[in-house]
Amino acid sequence: MKIKFIGTGSGITSLKRFHSSLLFSEPKYKLLIDAGDGISKALLTQKISFNSINGIVISHLHPDHFSGLSSLIVQMKISGRRNDLNIFIHNNLVKLIKIYLYQSYIFNERLGFKLNYVGFEHEERIKLTTELSFISKQNSHLDHYKAFDKGNTLSFSCSSFLFQYRDKDIFYSGDMGGKNDLYLFGDTKPKVLITEISHIDISDILTILRSFEKGKIILTHISDEDEIKLERLFNSLNKKELKRITTAYDGLTISI
Ligand SMILES: [Zn+2]
Repeated sequence: MKIKFIGTGSGITSLKRFHSSLLFSEPKYKLLIDAGDGISKALLTQKISFNSINGIVISHLHPDHFSGLSSLIVQMKISGRRNDLNIFIHNNLVKLIKIYLYQSYIFNERLGFKLNYVGFEHEERIKLTTELSFISKQNSHLDHYKAFDKGNTLSFSCSSFLFQYRDKDIFYSGDMGGKNDLYLFGDTKPKVLITEISHIDISDILTILRSFEKGKIILTHISDEDEIKLERLFNSLNKKELKRITTAYDGLTISI
């Protein structure tokens, strides 16, 4: 299986990076993780055909992870898509996504392909193929907004993911509330840990690198300012550690 970083930027729009998004590709399935502002152009830049994507999973509803979804679906329609598209999203958000797409004048009967909404619960295993599946857990990224939701109308669902491909685990932090979210999956020792770095400190990255003995760490969700923070991190690492940690860039592809 291959993982391609379609975008590696933070929530701050940048000329250097598209907003964070990943594409998991195995022979039978292509899964896009997050579809923020600019996702269609980011996919074009990486020469990914819109219609080769079988499913999209949305981690949470911040615009840098979600607001390109309706535009991407429109591009799929325009380019003559016929194959089904699965949208994986936490159960609490399914209704809202349906309304959002409807309000974007996306009508099922005009699309030319079927949109399947696959709602999931946290900790529920979602199987994509016989070899690829994922579970999600609620993280604390959106917790600080709760006090502002006076009418209690919002869902604060925000996921971190543990993907399983054959016997290998891949942890994707999604956007986090802080370092504790890096340990959501307890003792699991993933082969690859893909973590965002905008909401944690350098010291937290160092700690996880040192406690996480064998796996590789890939850093993403990087603002222009974060690049300075990363330079400091890399200057403090020894040779062995440097081999296990990589800064993602748009287009980086790894094989699992
Ligand atoms: Zn973000």
